[in-house]
Amino acid sequence: MSKILYEGKSKIIYEGPDEKSVVMYYKDTATAFDGKKKEELTGKGKLNSEISGIIYNYLTQNGIETHLIKILDDNSELVKRVEVIMVESIVRNVAAGSFSRKYGVPEGTALKNPTTEFSLKDDALGDPMINNSQITALGIATAEELDFMTEQSLKINKLLCDLLEKAGIRLVDYKLEFGRYEGRVILCDEISPDSCRFWDIKTNEKLDKDRFRRDLGNVLGGYENVLGRIKDVK
Ligand code: 5GP
Repeated sequence: MSKILYEGKSKIIYEGPDEKSVVMYYKDTATAFDGKKKEELTGKGKLNSEISGIIYNYLTQNGIETHLIKILDDNSELVKRVEVIMVESIVRNVAAGSFSRKYGVPEGTALKNPTTEFSLKDDALGDPMINNSQITALGIATAEELDFMTEQSLKINKLLCDLLEKAGIRLVDYKLEFGRYEGRVILCDEISPDSCRFWDIKTNEKLDKDRFRRDLGNVLGGYENVLGRIKDVK
């Protein structure tokens, strides 16, 4: 195995075959509440890797530039070596999670338009929400980069809603990350049940990491369900 460049809560980044790429390995570790809750779920890495691979290939086919170069094996992808922009871009279609708590909106309330927000990528601070002027004031990203990230996040929302609706899945909300690569801002990290809320479109059954966060049981059953449904959707 090559040298570890970075190890996060759910992924390991290894040195790649050249300085323009790295290998992203999906671990089986499940974490929530900024790492305070942690468990090994054998097979989670492979499921997330496959789900994210399908979604990234679909986004690429639809004109979104991503970091994915190629899927290497069950748990690993060769990806472009980006300079990660240290904010998360969160899009919501339905109220849930921190949005419901913060604004007193019952979980499951459909939103009249998708919402966008940024939060600081900082576990120790609990990933606090941060606005554009605060991000630019701290020199984390430029206003142009933030506008591009928001525009891409909303484009991705349309594409994902289309794909998932065909699979009988409601895209409640999700988190994206972006990085700088050869002067451009491109999508990086993963899109999986670890980073999205996926609900069954008919029953509202949760098929994502909320099963782990809220001790609902059968966490990987939810992830397998998502994979089974999106595999054959075109
Ligand atoms: P909330 O703000 O309700 O906690 O999260 C909104 C959405 O973004 C959820 O789909 C959640 O899974 C995702 N999300 C927010 N922060 C993080 C994070 O730090 N890591 C991951 N993997 N997903 C996140």
